[in-house]
Amino acid sequence: MDTDNVALDFLNTRTYVNGRATDLLSTPEELREWLVSVGLHAHGIDVEASPPAARLLFDEARRLRDGILTAVEAHGRCETVPPRVLYALNRVLEASRSTVQLVHDGERLTLVKLGTAPDSLAALSPIALAAATLLTEADRRRIRQCGSQRCVLWFLDTSKNGRRRWCSMATCGNRAKAARHYQKQKAAN
Ligand SMILES: [Zn+2]
Repeated sequence: MDTDNVALDFLNTRTYVNGRATDLLSTPEELREWLVSVGLHAHGIDVEASPPAARLLFDEARRLRDGILTAVEAHGRCETVPPRVLYALNRVLEASRSTVQLVHDGERLTLVKLGTAPDSLAALSPIALAAATLLTEADRRRIRQCGSQRCVLWFLDTSKNGRRRWCSMATCGNRAKAARHYQKQKAAN
């Protein structure tokens, strides 16, 4: 499900599939595929070329996800985001700084992409940036989890009246509607 915010999409990699808690990012390879699927460069995750480096980035990604979750939850409750979480997010934000550099090559200025270290956090920085934007710009009451008890997906409610309840009308919304319908039928009989 696409939330239009890559940080929430990232949180939503922890989901429920057929009623079971499922982590869609359970291997470095899954992380690489996910990053590519949301349009992020997966540099630093050449799983075959350097398994240890890919594993390091994978661990960083999972830590970042925990951090974003803690931050979003605290923010939603109007609590202070713990300093260690801010530190973790800022560490990843910082990593984006050095990915390009303006270089004079003797004739003209060119923008050079630096070869990022294999364990570079840069691949994750767009996610941290999306989280930072969410925490500073979005209405905290509109960052919510799906109303279904069998679903944990996050969404940003951009509806006019701000009363969206489901991660998606096509799945959880319809299920709730069908359940209500069934209850009504049962009551009528
Ligand atoms: Zn849902």
